[in-house]
Amino acid sequence: MSSPYPWQSQQWQQLQKRHQAGAMPHALLLHGPEGIGKADFAQTIARSLLCEQTGESGEACGQCKSCQLLNTGNHPDFIHIQPEEAGKAIKVDQIRELIQQMGLSHHLSTYRVVLITQAEQMNLAASNSLLKTLEEPQANTIILLVCSKISRLPATIRSRCQKLRFSLPSHNEAIAWLQTKLKDQTEEILTAANGAPLLAVHMFEADILKRRQVVLKDLLDLLKADQQPLAVAANWYKQSDIQPLSWLYYWVCDLIRLKTAGENYVVDQSAMHQLQTLLKTIDLGKLYQFHDQLGEAIRLQQTSANGLLLLEGILLSWTYLATNQNNRKLA
Ligand SMILES: [Zn+2]
Repeated sequence: MSSPYPWQSQQWQQLQKRHQAGAMPHALLLHGPEGIGKADFAQTIARSLLCEQTGESGEACGQCKSCQLLNTGNHPDFIHIQPEEAGKAIKVDQIRELIQQMGLSHHLSTYRVVLITQAEQMNLAASNSLLKTLEEPQANTIILLVCSKISRLPATIRSRCQKLRFSLPSHNEAIAWLQTKLKDQTEEILTAANGAPLLAVHMFEADILKRRQVVLKDLLDLLKADQQPLAVAANWYKQSDIQPLSWLYYWVCDLIRLKTAGENYVVDQSAMHQLQTLLKTIDLGKLYQFHDQLGEAIRLQQTSANGLLLLEGILLSWTYLATNQNNRKLA
């Protein structure tokens, strides 16, 4: 894409101003929630910096030699680093190779752009290796780091980058954009994606609404002791593209709203029937404490904590919310 998403215009203008003033930072850390298009924004900025004849608002022309080379993935002054396999680390060899490439002279454009997406996936050796490069910036080389979990990046890396924060778009902005991509279910799927529009599109494509229904059914089953918490945790953990704890958090908030304010205040209206069933099964006195515990687990997920252990702990606590503890079947 050659223009940023509508909700990124402020960041775009800010960078274009700096570009025009010849004051682009040598290392820029783009961070914010997952699924809002940070990596696309970084690609768009890279295109803009490398294009030979940008348009009025700085967007790449798509026609020049530089743009054509980028489109075919062959631009010699653009280097993109990401985990070689989904969910795996960015390894030190990848960073070493990058540094070697950076030692060569530019080929075509004024700038050289290095894009590191999922930067929080760098292992310690890779981070240390990159750190040296950040400490000794090269003229006209711009390193763009993109990450959704900034606290996982070493403080030493963070402190050597200028930070550019991205937030969730407003609900109306997200829905308006989503309606240009999906025919229906936009409200429902945006709720499932916690307000992140690109994540919503991904979820639609991966049929995640159905899988979300399965997660909700798992939660009901656990209260009835029809499933075992450790087995459910293992199953959820395997599906790395779902966000069961965030969903559970919103459902817990909805349960509290349902209890204290009534049906009209429930956000996830599509889950009303199941929420009402849950409300009858749960010891509400324990729900507030569980809400706090869940919030803490979600915070820990952003760190290097063991994700499977977190899921197991939460699901064990969830089973203890059942009012009918004595009737629970024995394992
Ligand atoms: Zn161009």
